[in-house]
Amino acid sequence: MPLHFVNGKGSRLVDMDGKEYLDLYARFGAMILGHANEEYLDALNEAMRRVLCVSHCDFDADALESMNAHIPSAEMIRFGLSGTEILQTALRLARAYTGRNRFLRFENHYHGNADNVMGGRVLDRRIPAPVDFRGDYKGTAGRANDIMAEQSFMIPWNDFERLEEFFAEYGDTLACVLTEPVAVNAGSIDAAPGYLERLRELSTQHGVVLIFDEMITGMRLGVGGAQKRLGVTPDLATFGKAIGGGGVPVSALVGSRQIMRLLEDKTVIHAGTYNGYPLGTAAVKATFDILSRDDESATLQMQRRISELQDTLVREATRVGLPLVVQGPAGVSSFHCNDTPLSTPGDYGFEVMSKDIIVATSLQRHGVLISSVSRIYPNVQLTDGDLDFFESRVGAALTEAKQLIDEIY
Ligand code: PMP
Repeated sequence: MPLHFVNGKGSRLVDMDGKEYLDLYARFGAMILGHANEEYLDALNEAMRRVLCVSHCDFDADALESMNAHIPSAEMIRFGLSGTEILQTALRLARAYTGRNRFLRFENHYHGNADNVMGGRVLDRRIPAPVDFRGDYKGTAGRANDIMAEQSFMIPWNDFERLEEFFAEYGDTLACVLTEPVAVNAGSIDAAPGYLERLRELSTQHGVVLIFDEMITGMRLGVGGAQKRLGVTPDLATFGKAIGGGGVPVSALVGSRQIMRLLEDKTVIHAGTYNGYPLGTAAVKATFDILSRDDESATLQMQRRISELQDTLVREATRVGLPLVVQGPAGVSSFHCNDTPLSTPGDYGFEVMSKDIIVATSLQRHGVLISSVSRIYPNVQLTDGDLDFFESRVGAALTEAKQLIDEIY
């Protein structure tokens, strides 16, 4: 049943029937500042006034300085509107820089709505070219024929042996490697110790551009992104969603001067009427201001509170006899109806996913919004009162979910 909301404040939303919800969905993670964040609204209102008075503004300089100060790989920066679009620019840039064509991506990672990066499966380990696959939930009809197989390779993530094997055979023909630094879209799976470091080494050795897709991890793991937190610096990185606070669409491509200068000298084109539009860059600046203040205290508090909420979720699941784990860094974690955390994206199979959807749907019926893919997205306005709200709803929701799961499985 689609929900229509008429009001929102902090972590709460109110639907057309006056029913209140705790929002842990946050528009696919974008709303990191929560609803009606006063400081953010004031900044956007002020920007709007200036945008309407002068056609050309200096907001981009402020936003660029903030990003450059915090994100390790951000020597140079370009703004776009969506994650999908900016990722295509990253691929184009990597191809131009290396003079090579194909890129490597990983099973069950997500990199936007374009034909060449959505879904797909590898059917034969010896030929790691992804093909459209019926039943793949991220697949789509209407895709240009063979575009994935022509442009990319795909291997399982967190599998060292396959990575070595792959690079030995194809490394020198590769333009870039595209990875989420935490596999959030595959169920919030952390990189195995040393995996990102090894990706970094292999990319350098083979002259391959390493791209981190930080669309989700950017801001949620801190203003330096996953790259700062995990200590691995990619050549290029893409940001979107929460980087603009969730109120307006804005995305960014950042990277080393050596590669990004191809955009500056127009060897590589990144066209777009609204690229770097003032309201978007003002939103980036406001978001960095709020989240970087006092050594990122707002984000740290958010992460602490959501960890508490997640503990309550696991405790209540145990009480009603439902196997459930929460995994991934606080801020981008997911729950799964499983005895143990998932360790590779391949573990996120149909049964786990279906059970997760049952739990998410039950929680929604009881006033807790969670994305259907079981991700838990808090915002910095999350309060102790919100944790109490959750505690008062979660037991009934899980009891209901458990009954339904038992009937089906
Ligand atoms: N990359 C990742 C990791 C994402 O999660 C998403 C969106 N879910 C995208 C890219 C695409 O971003 P957008 O929806 O803004 O096009």
